[in-house]
Amino acid sequence: MKITIIGGGPAGMYFGILMKAADAGHQITIYERNGPDDTFGWGVVFSGRTLNNLRAADPASHAEITGDFAAWENVDVAHRDENISIHGNSFSGIARLRLLKILQRRCDELGIEIKFHTEITDLKSFVSECDLFVGADGVNSTVRQKFADQFKPDLSTRPNKYVWYGTHQLFHGLTLTFRETREGVFAAHSYKFDTTTSTFIIECDPHTWTNAGFDEMSDAETRAHLENVFARDLAGHQLLSNNSKWINFLLVRNANWYFDNVVLLGDALHTAHFSIGSGTKLALEDAITLAQCFRHNAEVSKALRQFETERKPVIETYQAAAEESMLWFENAKDFMQLTPIELAYVLMTRSGRIDHETLRRRDPNFIALYENQSKAKS
Ligand SMILES: Cc1cc2nc3c(=O)[nH]c(=O)nc-3n(C[C@H](O)[C@H](O)[C@H](O)COP(=O)(O)OP(=O)(O)OC[C@H]3O[C@@H](n4cnc5c(N)ncnc54)[C@H](O)[C@@H]3O)c2cc1C
Repeated sequence: MKITIIGGGPAGMYFGILMKAADAGHQITIYERNGPDDTFGWGVVFSGRTLNNLRAADPASHAEITGDFAAWENVDVAHRDENISIHGNSFSGIARLRLLKILQRRCDELGIEIKFHTEITDLKSFVSECDLFVGADGVNSTVRQKFADQFKPDLSTRPNKYVWYGTHQLFHGLTLTFRETREGVFAAHSYKFDTTTSTFIIECDPHTWTNAGFDEMSDAETRAHLENVFARDLAGHQLLSNNSKWINFLLVRNANWYFDNVVLLGDALHTAHFSIGSGTKLALEDAITLAQCFRHNAEVSKALRQFETERKPVIETYQAAAEESMLWFENAKDFMQLTPIELAYVLMTRSGRIDHETLRRRDPNFIALYENQSKAKS
């Protein structure tokens, strides 16, 4: 089969790898507008279960990816200078660039051609010249835009602003830090992803953003301001920029996932708020499901139909949980009167995926603390 993939991110490369590993006869080309060493952002996180899926799908890349992982089992909530750790939550982190390099090397090993520095805008000729055309071109997908009549996307730009920094302050565990200032509430989502660096994403509502005057600040002024807000948490470390800019989260859904021989994958197809840390996981798992559909169906239209039928309900469940989490962060200021333990409890249960009893199983000490405090208050 001749397969053309637009986008050399996790979704596009991993799908190429799985298809080529299953059948070396496939002729696969990936078009990527950036160079092999360019990337945005810092590290990404995976939940424990993702790893088993990767092991089963492609043991070679799984071994390399997990060899580089920073792993932890705690979520920390920092509020009013108190740090609450909740244990029993398995996560791992890896630098995005490191993940991309591993996947690029695996593509190379299998004989998949990646054409870097090649931005594809005229899609029609590409679509007609291949058997399968994959739009894995990320959240602002050109493929989705050009074929909007077929995919019928539903896009929602969310009100909160966020910016993705790095720092050499090491956060051992997924750490959610809240700082109340005169301007409003800032939340930071941080985690260590290698031995020297953590991701540090800062989020605030639009009023806080306007009050702080970020619209008139340079990048350096913005960083200085935020280093001051999180001074105690960063313990003297700087915020590191990688062309980091304030953005609004774009929630993406599509009514149709494919038409003819064209399909969307990863962020081009759906997004889930970064607070549940599953964008890369979902992109890789999309690739696994789509590749499996081709094992069961040689015919492209049947494989694509099966992909949509199987995968859509899974994604809808994730998006529902991620939406609850996103709304929580959009309204974070309403929870700041809670004690640190109460805030930690509300945060852990915010998306509806973890309930009281699950939390008790994962961390009985935390639940005992929470229950004692609730009793003392009532
Ligand atoms: C602030 C923030 C924090 C995040 N944190 C996490 C996290 O902790 N854990 C996690 O799992 N995920 C996280 N994510 C999400 C994660 O980055 C994405 O979900 C993931 O990268 C999706 O993979 P993808 O392959 O679908 O898209 P992308 O990684 O976006 O890849 C798409 C590729 O297509 C290329 N491209 C686009 N258009 C064209 C074109 N016309 N021609 C050629 N090439 C093109 C782009 O250059 C890009 O390389 C975060 C995202 C953000 C914004």
